[in-house]
Amino acid sequence: MKPSGKKPESSQGNDPYIVFGAPDIGEEEIAEVEACLRSGWLGTGPRVARFERDFAAYKGVRSDQVAAVNSCTAALHVSMVAAGLEPGSEVITTPLTFCATVNAIIHAGLTPVLADIDPVTMNIDPAAIEDAITPRTRAILPVHFAGRPCDMDAIMAIAKKYDLVVIEDCAHAIETEYHGRKAGTFGDFGCFSFYATKNVVTGEGGMIIGREQSRIDRARMLALHGMSKDAWHRFGDQGYKHYQVVEAGFKYNMMDIQAALGIHQLARLEDNHLRRKQIWDRYMEAFTELPVSLPAAPAPDTRPALHLFTLQLKESLCGIGRDALINAMYEHGIGTGVHYLSIPEHPYYSDRFSWEPKQWPNAMLAGRLTVSLPLSAGLSDAEVARVITSTSSILKRGSGS
Ligand SMILES: *Cc1c(COP(=O)(O)O)cnc(C)c1O
Repeated sequence: MKPSGKKPESSQGNDPYIVFGAPDIGEEEIAEVEACLRSGWLGTGPRVARFERDFAAYKGVRSDQVAAVNSCTAALHVSMVAAGLEPGSEVITTPLTFCATVNAIIHAGLTPVLADIDPVTMNIDPAAIEDAITPRTRAILPVHFAGRPCDMDAIMAIAKKYDLVVIEDCAHAIETEYHGRKAGTFGDFGCFSFYATKNVVTGEGGMIIGREQSRIDRARMLALHGMSKDAWHRFGDQGYKHYQVVEAGFKYNMMDIQAALGIHQLARLEDNHLRRKQIWDRYMEAFTELPVSLPAAPAPDTRPALHLFTLQLKESLCGIGRDALINAMYEHGIGTGVHYLSIPEHPYYSDRFSWEPKQWPNAMLAGRLTVSLPLSAGLSDAEVARVITSTSSILKRGSGS
């Protein structure tokens, strides 16, 4: 399916606008959503149970170790609540992430502490984590940026040394593997996103993997009002059951309509990954001569999920700034993304925590100089060629070569 968005007035030629992060929705998803609607069962039910089973199987964990929720933000939030950290505990995370990572820490009553990224991998730097540890540190929240795994050996060693909880933000990292092990299974919790632009799409949606049974059970319960475990089955056809509320929980459960999409998205995950790998390789080959840094080669014995293809402008060589590049791409009918302005660039965090972007210079530069190109599995070869031609011509013009 090729979504075509509105074309900017000045878009050249008659080519449809290429939407950044367009989902690849197949006929199976459409049929399953229709079947779900016709079944009369829209809320949390059999399709959520199946999606949980399929996801657990993909990750090689038991199905009672996962809980489907309605976003990764919700997954991060309930994971941190279920970890049982005392209020005000410090959680170390990366400044190069989506705001949801930090908001979830704040909403769990905890205090975010930033540790800068490695400028090559774009992932949190274990040495910076260790520097940021204080007597109040209780958790580390690494983000596998663009689907490239963080240095989990080093991070888990730090966690062990200081007795810290680890919550992996796997929003980009469904297919990610590190030293033969899948992302989301290293930490106490792994949190996944099925938002419309992610590698598996349910519209909105998320999943938690929990290592310890009591904690994942608590996360699951917190995601449904804090009702005792059996409440998940109370919608079933096995007769009426009273439920008991044992904590003040949240309304974070996934619906069957969402799982209807997820079941078939997950089945096509590897095919879509291969397609993104083709696009990735074409970009890598096409952009070698441009005044940009390309994504670093994967570390040995790792598998990146290839969620984002991000270029970093070499400032002194580019005659064009990042935002001007984004605007020029838009004029060519191509949507791009910024991942991300570093967290302290946003007024809420800088005001509340007295943070300045330059305290985390690697993340600051990545946030100001990078742009992510379309990488959806649904892109046609012609669309990929257009992205390459436009990116090259704009950057060559800018650098005057
Ligand atoms: C998308 C994203 C989230 C939030 O996911 P939702 O499912 O939209 O809540 C969290 N962290 C990162 C790194 C993300 O990219």
